[in-house]
Amino acid sequence: MSFRRSLYKTPAQLRLMQAPGLATAASLDAARAVLRAGSTTLEADAAAEAAITARGGRSNFKLEPGYRHTVCASVNEDVVHGIPSGRKLEPGDIVSIDSGAVIDGWNGDAAFTLVIPDPSRPDRTAERQRLSDITEQSLWRGIAQLAKARYLNEVGEAIQDYIESQGSYGILTDYVGHGIGRSMHEAPPVFNYRVRQKGPEVRPGLVVAIEPMVVHGDIDTFVREDGWTVATSDGSAAAHWEHSIAVHKDGIWVLTASDGGAEALKPLGVTPVPIS
Ligand code: MG
Repeated sequence: MSFRRSLYKTPAQLRLMQAPGLATAASLDAARAVLRAGSTTLEADAAAEAAITARGGRSNFKLEPGYRHTVCASVNEDVVHGIPSGRKLEPGDIVSIDSGAVIDGWNGDAAFTLVIPDPSRPDRTAERQRLSDITEQSLWRGIAQLAKARYLNEVGEAIQDYIESQGSYGILTDYVGHGIGRSMHEAPPVFNYRVRQKGPEVRPGLVVAIEPMVVHGDIDTFVREDGWTVATSDGSAAAHWEHSIAVHKDGIWVLTASDGGAEALKPLGVTPVPIS
């Protein structure tokens, strides 16, 4: 059977996307709480899974053919799609955790990056923290742009403009964000950079996962022999932040943030509005 899903969800469908969004947020909080020097990304994976299960959800990453984990864990030069492992995290590691939950057939998807402090190398710790911070801030700039955009690809312009204003960083172009709903990955693509096309109209019912991936060095990547892990070709560190956001009749709401994005969007002049 083949059919085209509408890019735009109904108000009832948007309401159903709140629970998987919050379960996704909880799974990332749980993973974040265990990440420190000496812990492992497998422990973060277990914590994330428990948080999703406690909210009546399932990991949607586990539903991807051949993938057995709840989160993706990408350390240092690994950018995205890394597999959790039993390797002990070390001071100075930069770790990105990506997670998603499905509840009643609806999906959430989000990611954060964390730097394990290294007191013996404060400069490198600060440099990596800044990479994570500007990547996170570029995500919020993209979300703020979504709140007022006419067309979706204005989001990528806002992300690129911000990243370029912060120094010589690279935005990955091999991987982009996506629509999200009954499938974790669906149309439309959400670019993290300027493209010529305007993209679909931003109007109530649009739900997208925005997920900038930013590096210190060259944006070239390759997939490791495990068939999943995407790593930078030059070995430079990478950061990845992501949220799933709904556009509805009264405004926008960040489904994968417990406050809808209110705190982070406030300095950008955007007030998210709960879905009613
Ligand atoms: Mg995603």
